[in-house]
Amino acid sequence: MGEEVRLRIAPSPTGDPHVGTAYMALFNKAYAHGHGGKFILRIEDTDQTRYNEGSEREILSSLDWLGLTPDEGPGIGGPYGPYVQTQRRELYTQAAGALIAREHAYRCFCTKERLDEMYREQAARKEPPRYDRTCRNLDAVRIAWNIAEGIPHTVRLKVPDDGTTTFNDLIRGEISFENRVLNDPIILKSDGLPVYHLAVVVDDHHMMISHVVRAEEWISSTPLHVLLYDALGWEPPKFVHMPLLRNADRSKISKRKNNTSLKWYREQ
Ligand code: GLU
Repeated sequence: MGEEVRLRIAPSPTGDPHVGTAYMALFNKAYAHGHGGKFILRIEDTDQTRYNEGSEREILSSLDWLGLTPDEGPGIGGPYGPYVQTQRRELYTQAAGALIAREHAYRCFCTKERLDEMYREQAARKEPPRYDRTCRNLDAVRIAWNIAEGIPHTVRLKVPDDGTTTFNDLIRGEISFENRVLNDPIILKSDGLPVYHLAVVVDDHHMMISHVVRAEEWISSTPLHVLLYDALGWEPPKFVHMPLLRNADRSKISKRKNNTSLKWYREQ
């Protein structure tokens, strides 16, 4: 990690920009500029099924309207671009390859049908959904054969069987998770695109992000990120998880009960 204070928001372009994005942008920009640093916008568009055209433009124009214009981002530029994840595929493929080579990740050839069946059985036994790690110990010959046959595969992170993963949150202090409860998550999908966990770590590292300030709903993902930083031999940024926006009765704001679209507020 460099000396410069660099913070980012990383919204997904899935529809109308959400008030939560502006709320996070406010803290990120204030902290970055309060410390002579930079505020960055990155578009997390690797979930192509939820991609909404025009959403990226709306995010930028809403941020401009609120005086929260980023210093770096798509359409703005900056030294660590591109700032859109689907334009950064090469970096995720490289990271996944490095993780496999170091035996921190493995190829999983399980079909969707097999996994669905397994999750159905687990649900019937009232167990949480959990990958049974069938592909974790495949022998090298079998893996080579599967690849040669062109059998589609994902890449999964090898989470240690026991022990705990701990990180420090600048607001909340030390937070620990037992590795036992962390699944071996998919980090690269069979279409070659990364899932959030891999992409966020790779991008925050390469974009030299010093502080990750995001909503508290991401706390449970952070141990996976810490494991990924470790496995890749990278230093993690500082983590800050902010309280969610709530109604006066403390319930979460949601599309059903509130106007959560920045566009709506602007129109009013
Ligand atoms: N794409 C995530 C979101 O939509 C980013 C979470 C993060 O800041 O790491 O909120």
